[in-house]
Amino acid sequence: MPVKVGIVGGGQLARMMIAPAVELGLQVSVLAEDVGMSAALAATAVGDYRDLETVRAFARDVDVLTFDHEHVPQEVLRALVADGVAVHPGPDALQYAQDKLRMRARLEELGMPQPDWAAVADLDALQRFLDAHEGRGVVKTPRGGYDGKGVRVVRSAADATDWIAALEPGGALLVEELVDFTRELAQQVARRPSGDAVAYPVVETVQRDGVCAEVIAPAPHGAGRVADVAAEIGRAIAEGLGVTGMLAVELFETTDERLLVNELAMRPHNSGHWSQDGAVTGQFEQHVRAVLDLPLGDPSPRARWSAMVNILGGPAADSLESRFPAVLAAHPAAKVHTYGKAPRPGRKVGHVNVSGDELDAVVYEARAAAAFFED
Ligand code: ADP
Repeated sequence: MPVKVGIVGGGQLARMMIAPAVELGLQVSVLAEDVGMSAALAATAVGDYRDLETVRAFARDVDVLTFDHEHVPQEVLRALVADGVAVHPGPDALQYAQDKLRMRARLEELGMPQPDWAAVADLDALQRFLDAHEGRGVVKTPRGGYDGKGVRVVRSAADATDWIAALEPGGALLVEELVDFTRELAQQVARRPSGDAVAYPVVETVQRDGVCAEVIAPAPHGAGRVADVAAEIGRAIAEGLGVTGMLAVELFETTDERLLVNELAMRPHNSGHWSQDGAVTGQFEQHVRAVLDLPLGDPSPRARWSAMVNILGGPAADSLESRFPAVLAAHPAAKVHTYGKAPRPGRKVGHVNVSGDELDAVVYEARAAAAFFED
């Protein structure tokens, strides 16, 4: 059995893989962008993940290489695979999480439901798309966006003049119809290199200013058709793109009750943090199991409802940890997770999970506990 797992990227997702990996008897090492990052709890090398020789040296001493983010360049990933490194998810799958235009084209080939879209390289083409979609749309930079950066609602092509002007030769922007959605959902699937896959229950996600603020698992009023269709979409994408490890499919539920794919993440995801405490197998343990091609764990919920509330920003004056005694005393049922990050306005610095039988009580408790960390 492989025993050494290497994680590229030192953020909170890598950090939260460490404890379950240790419990599975594995050795974990991290290639972090900088000193003192969230995942510096494990053996940590510091270096640039865009530099092949740096990643190659890091990969030399691991059995499996996986990721905290999707930004390792294709050239680096492909060179590692050619070296014989077990890279999960691999470059063939990751390209679709790295480039939203490629993702749209491939999902279309797979027949997945998604918003109308087009690749546009100039203002005329963008305006033609908007004219065909009630004069509005959502323009996205295909690469490098996160937490709503690189996403802009436009009502005229002129609203995207700066992005069009910044395109490199041969480059294009993604434009999508502005979807009339009632809510956002997320479907997670774990898939092993040998092909086995398990689906988590679909969850409801609430975004504020482009950032995930809250998650309710399972999605309220989602039992039956919504849950079945979401799981089917998740499994079909995991299989169709050859994803290994955790896949998150962000979905829109439309006013006319369709599910449309918004975007993909091939790693543990904010929408799955609830599962650390609310599912038989949390997403971080599951990701590690999947990339090592170990048997997958049961993704079933352990309670009727779970809520996850992100701690955004955090206290300006004192440390997050200094507030622990008060919150733990007031909310003994809350599970608080912090990321070892310095608080900054809008920054995700931790989250709270609460599970139980009554949805309102669970959400209330998670919000109340998270509020202890805000000034
Ligand atoms: P990011 O990569 O930054 O997470 P997303 O593509 O997920 O960007 O978009 C961020 C948010 O913008 C979504 O969660 C959703 O609220 C909104 N959004 C994105 N695409 C559309 C769309 N086609 N129609 C309506 N809203 C959208």
